[in-house]
Amino acid sequence: MTTMFTRCLFCHGSFAENDRLAHMPRGRRIAYDPEQGRLWAVCSRCHRWNLAPIEERDAALYELERLARDHARPLGHTANVSLLGAGSLTLVRVGDAGLVEQAWWRYGRELRRRKTSFESRRSKVAAYTFGAMQYLGDAIGFSDGDVAIDWSDTPVADVLRWRRFGWAAWHGRETCPYCNSTLRALRYDLGWWVYPLRGEDGRLGVGIPCQRCDPWTPEKVYELHGDVAENVLRRLLAYQNIAGASERKITDAARAIEEAGSAGAFALDVSERRQSLWKMGKVGTIGLEIALNESVERRLLDLEVRAIEFIWRREEEIARIIDQELTPRRLLEAHMRRLPVRLRPRLGHLTAEVEGR
Ligand SMILES: [Zn+2]
Ligand SMILES: [Zn+2]
Repeated sequence: MTTMFTRCLFCHGSFAENDRLAHMPRGRRIAYDPEQGRLWAVCSRCHRWNLAPIEERDAALYELERLARDHARPLGHTANVSLLGAGSLTLVRVGDAGLVEQAWWRYGRELRRRKTSFESRRSKVAAYTFGAMQYLGDAIGFSDGDVAIDWSDTPVADVLRWRRFGWAAWHGRETCPYCNSTLRALRYDLGWWVYPLRGEDGRLGVGIPCQRCDPWTPEKVYELHGDVAENVLRRLLAYQNIAGASERKITDAARAIEEAGSAGAFALDVSERRQSLWKMGKVGTIGLEIALNESVERRLLDLEVRAIEFIWRREEEIARIIDQELTPRRLLEAHMRRLPVRLRPRLGHLTAEVEGR
């Protein structure tokens, strides 16, 4: 059991307990390099990296590698740095990323969670109460006329949807290329008829059938592109999948994504088919929601992990100096000898460096 780090060396903020690591019990974000034998606790307050004393790293490194291998979810990576999640812990692992990306798996958990909360008694009661008020409001002519609640079918889902999303997935001004009529808003309950398409920029777009023209002719559509289209699609899909999904449906959707090769490829396949969300069915729309969320999350994580790589380069330089210049040689050598065998490939290299000085 180690005594290291109860507080940040820089800002004296305390490191929270993580309940996961016996040899590094504090710190919620931990950076480490199993090859070079480096270990840092990253302060959640000032974000500085605290290099662990060299003689206290071995056991923690071993424990971290095991945790990363068996229990962590990959969140993103560059060529040199991977970001991993394990419960309340975030790990920054230096070294090449040989781990399979499983974002859809993580997202599947979100859909399962939604299903549980949707089915909970409390959310039903709240929805019915709210629905009843709306019903009364209708009766005395005092409510939002754009809200359509189908009391015979799935009123709970309808009420929850309306409370959470409002009535329109998009407001703006688009002109139909055929009849010149203007679309000002896209109502959620008409969202089933939109379809994903591939824009000229290669990205996912949205086609909205023109109500005035022939709504069944695929050419007669309003088109949204770029970030706007992506946001509209994500909103529509979240609306439609508000009840969450069963294990079975999530597995099927994940399999479809796997078969396509990646989440991005799946979304592209779907857009080529020009099918309405309705026609795509539950598995199709769940797959698309997973794919879209994955791509947004990926972009954010890419930014984060690139920033981390930048910081790591600076910290690694400092760590190398501290380890080599300031640590007595015998300590370093003892440290290398104690490293588990599979963490020891750099032994020769490091001791050579020490001796070369
Ligand atoms: Zn700090
Ligand atoms: Zn039209």
